[in-house]
Amino acid sequence: MDFQAVLDDIDAQIRPLLGTGGRVASYIPALARVSPQQFGIALRTCEGQEAAAGDATTPFSIQSMSKVFTLTLAIRGLGEALWQRIGREPSGSPFNSLVQLETERGIPRNPFINAGAIAVADRLLSLGGDEALAKVLQMLSSLCREPVHIDAEVAQSEADTGFRNAALANFMRGFGTLDNEPGRVLDVYFKQCAIAMNCQQVARAAGYLCRDGAHPYDGTPVISETQARRVNALMLTCGTYDAAGEFAFRIGLPCKSGVGGGIVAVLPDRLSLCVWSPALDGTGNSHLGRMALELFVARTGLSVF
Ligand code: GLN
Repeated sequence: MDFQAVLDDIDAQIRPLLGTGGRVASYIPALARVSPQQFGIALRTCEGQEAAAGDATTPFSIQSMSKVFTLTLAIRGLGEALWQRIGREPSGSPFNSLVQLETERGIPRNPFINAGAIAVADRLLSLGGDEALAKVLQMLSSLCREPVHIDAEVAQSEADTGFRNAALANFMRGFGTLDNEPGRVLDVYFKQCAIAMNCQQVARAAGYLCRDGAHPYDGTPVISETQARRVNALMLTCGTYDAAGEFAFRIGLPCKSGVGGGIVAVLPDRLSLCVWSPALDGTGNSHLGRMALELFVARTGLSVF
């Protein structure tokens, strides 16, 4: 398939729509300053064929897309024991919701809502201590074969305004389901969310998820085949929060979104894909990114269903 032509067509269809719908995340001040007039798309097949269009090499804040990679590290380090602290069910609630944590006694519904990702960061701290964050960056750099770093301004902006996340961390600590001091856990969480990458790098980095857990460049196992299948299952059911049903219905690919406007998608055994456009819909997912994924699936017929 001529993927370059497909992505060029999608870019041509999306570009005139820039600025017509959705709003950039404003609850993190550093993200509110990002221009919504940007769209990028990139993919990499399991065989290493690549295609990209639009602003595919412009770095953006990966935000909750980081949760896929921290989950991968936690699964690799802890195996099944991870699930003693985190559930695997869609929440049906917004990503930063506190309500379920109360009734479910400090065990987050899944690793992709904020509470779940904060619980994963806690596990990474217990596993790696002060090296926890460096290990996330190392993994991402190794996966996309380029240096990856944290946008310090975004990280600070999140730390200054992340009161809900602080509430989630303290709540879990109160239930005894967070082992490390909430401030330390939040530091890891805010910084992982503030990692800057571009569409091309993210599409490359997610390559292990379409290759049964094998590293996209050197083929060494990042996680096992079963573990990769499970990460994909969680992305499909929980990766786009309370829009996950709609994403499965309209797109049918495991996806993980972030409030920076990125969405990473995986078609197992075939390709990994990243779209980015900063304006978000009401569920915190990229408005045009979602539309671009729909166009991609309609045009190529590629979906898990
Ligand atoms: N850093 C963001 C937050 O904690 C991540 C949320 C997201 O991307 N959905 O609110």
